[in-house]
Amino acid sequence: MDLLGLRAPGDEADKKKMSACVLEQEDQLDSAHSLAASIGHTPLVRLRNSARGLPAGVEIYAKAEHLNPGGSVKDRPALAMILDGERTGKLQRGMTILDATSGNTGIAYAMIGAARGYAVTLCLPKNASPQRKRILRSFGVNIIETDPLQATDGAQLLARRMFLAEPGKYFYPDQYNNEANWRAHYEGTAPEIWDQTEGRITHFVAGLGTSGTFVGTTRRLKELKPTLRAVSMQPDSPLHGLEGLKHMGTAMVPGIYDATLADENVAVTTEDAQAMQKILAQQDGLLVGPSSGANVFAALQLARTLPRESVVVTILCDGGERYNE
Ligand code: PMP
Repeated sequence: MDLLGLRAPGDEADKKKMSACVLEQEDQLDSAHSLAASIGHTPLVRLRNSARGLPAGVEIYAKAEHLNPGGSVKDRPALAMILDGERTGKLQRGMTILDATSGNTGIAYAMIGAARGYAVTLCLPKNASPQRKRILRSFGVNIIETDPLQATDGAQLLARRMFLAEPGKYFYPDQYNNEANWRAHYEGTAPEIWDQTEGRITHFVAGLGTSGTFVGTTRRLKELKPTLRAVSMQPDSPLHGLEGLKHMGTAMVPGIYDATLADENVAVTTEDAQAMQKILAQQDGLLVGPSSGANVFAALQLARTLPRESVVVTILCDGGERYNE
């Protein structure tokens, strides 16, 4: 403010413009080295020892999403939803990010929220793993625990109620119904897989949680290669140990789920997933979680039935150190 009231026209406006310009330049300089820039571009690993005995000429690969900075595939959609919130003005300085999550999206919100200066409040089922809760608390997250018997559905209902009660306080990305969720995979995961397989991918297999990974990746891959076959995987029963995945028959179906994208749907038991998790760790050096075990189990079952020149790709969703033995 000019105390004498003799401000030369344009002075303050010019200063503001200049500082905005400097900030923009700093942002641009910084963005290449930002946390956000370290999300995605994950390796595609060929499974060898765990995939022994496949028919000749059949290859199987896993996208190592557990190597994202937040440790899971959910870094991608969390970043996309936060950027979308900032772009549309739904997320502004001083607001709190609020959502329901079984853990990994929460960790991603917590990490990105901390780096971008937002508080984060999460509703999650009481039985989410203690390791995940510890990580969330380390990022400074406010955790609200919900009824474990209602799984993520209960957490979703509470988050929605809290948002509706105080809409000005919260940014509620609602990952189950947010288009930016599947778009993160449409624009990131899928083109990466396409490039990493040099367009040779023939089959894509992924489990369903919010369904963002399956829907976004499949949608883009089928545009790139209409003959691609996509297999969606679910836990075999409502009470399962595959954290992050949904039994669609009995759960609240996510708004972004598009069942027409799958050429085949398969179910995997928790026991088969855990056995595969162990094989991946001990024979291929890949320490990943149970949903990754389930993905690879389903991908291997499929691969065993395929002819030469088939290239199957699946997802390693998160790391194994977040789970109990
Ligand atoms: N595995 C794990 C460990 C997860 O946390 C999630 C996310 N809920 C998934 C798989 C499924 O991913 P998506 O939400 O994209 O369907």
